[in-house]
Amino acid sequence: MTLCNPPNQALGLSIAMDGPAGAGKSTLAKLLAERLGYLYVDTGAMYRALALKALRTGIDLTNDAALTDMAGQTCVRLERGILGNRVFLDEQEVTRDIREPEIERVVSRVSAAMGLRRYMVEQQRQIARKGGVVMDGRDIGSYVLPNADVKFFVTASLEERARRRQEQQAAKGHDIPLNELLADIAARDEQDRNKGEHSLIQTPDAILIDTTDRSVDDVMAELLSHCRRG
Ligand code: C5P
Repeated sequence: MTLCNPPNQALGLSIAMDGPAGAGKSTLAKLLAERLGYLYVDTGAMYRALALKALRTGIDLTNDAALTDMAGQTCVRLERGILGNRVFLDEQEVTRDIREPEIERVVSRVSAAMGLRRYMVEQQRQIARKGGVVMDGRDIGSYVLPNADVKFFVTASLEERARRRQEQQAAKGHDIPLNELLADIAARDEQDRNKGEHSLIQTPDAILIDTTDRSVDDVMAELLSHCRRG
């Protein structure tokens, strides 16, 4: 697989932000990158793009070898956009498509294929090589960038995460019952915590940020204070 994402040119800290689905990571990571003038890298979007390709091509989602082969022949590229990363799958823009509910349901399974992850991790490390990045995901502080200058582990209660997802989907015209989202997110958490060395875990050197009942401004002030110190 060719490296589709050129290394970041900026110099600065490398900041890892991990946490479960719906904890507010991407909103915070995006804002933090903006405030620091860094590149924002949404690694979940990379796995979502591969999940979209797997669905479109009808690959058996339980076949890790087939998923890995597919990843080896796929270019997932991130570009800086006004609202976050624009995502290109084999040069076709899929920024909106990867946020659809059917992707939410399969992305944890697709991203559990270890061979497929190796391709994505290689790209993520290349992008972060020169620093000046805020990278969000599940295994960034533990595996992708174990030497990151600052590591955050962002979480929130399951109920709050499900409510936030419901609001996001409602804004796109999808009316999804809260119970369904609670079950989906709990299942996703379970899968994300069981991916061997890529599992979602809080490393001992990561700063825990619980966003339950907190405003974005309040949390941002805390994140910035750690980065200025870091
Ligand atoms: O962050 P987001 O919810 O968009 O991520 C989508 C999915 O991609 C997650 O549920 C997780 O299964 C997977 N993922 C991962 N490793 C990462 C980022 C995301 O396995 N570094």
